Amino acid sequence: MAKKDPMECPHCGKGIYIEFTENKIVNGNNEVGDNYILLLSGFCPFCKNPIVLMKKGELIENYQLDTSIKDYLWGQETIYPKFLSKDKLSEYIPNDYQKEYNDVKIIKDINPKASACLCRYLLQKILHEELKINKGNLHKELEELESIQKIPSELCEMLQILRKVTNSGAHPNLDKKTCEIIETEPGEIEIMLEILKQLFDFVFVKPKMYEKAKLEWNEKYGIKIDK
Ligand SMILES: [Zn+2]
Repeated sequence: MAKKDPMECPHCGKGIYIEFTENKIVNGNNEVGDNYILLLSGFCPFCKNPIVLMKKGELIENYQLDTSIKDYLWGQETIYPKFLSKDKLSEYIPNDYQKEYNDVKIIKDINPKASACLCRYLLQKILHEELKINKGNLHKELEELESIQKIPSELCEMLQILRKVTNSGAHPNLDKKTCEIIETEPGEIEIMLEILKQLFDFVFVKPKMYEKAKLEWNEKYGIKIDK
């Protein structure tokens, strides 16, 4: 059975009415007290991307109507896409960085240690490969990053917050080999994710957007900026 529900497309963010195909699975013989899941799948009419939702609930007695059973909904979650459009990273960020960043978010609540480990690895990768900061120790490298004159002030602030959370570099988390971690501090992964996002912006997105703007100025107004 198809039903149209108003919603915001998790891919493109547009308000849509979508014709979902419904698939109900009841755990039992369709009796009062049985749990059920309802899978809704369809495509966004604008961006054409697939959307899958899952509703879950319980069958309860229906006193208002003559049908004896009705659905009692517990909740609904988006199965696909995993990330909402507002969380999507810029297309200017290389795919391997995007994938690893999303992996950190996926495993964040399931395995915080592995997530923190991957986060530190990503931080070092971008420091070593993109910014050529190599000090053999993440703490020293982040200090070096902070001392670069042209880094945005928000990034600088986040680096200071990370230092406070991880206890002024005495913290074993930021020592030598990034994956030799014992524990993660509350909020540490979120702060590192924010730092990563700002680094992506600083290293990949801003320079590309500036390049694009320069091309446009040249095409539209004949203004040429070298360097
Ligand atoms: Zn869409």
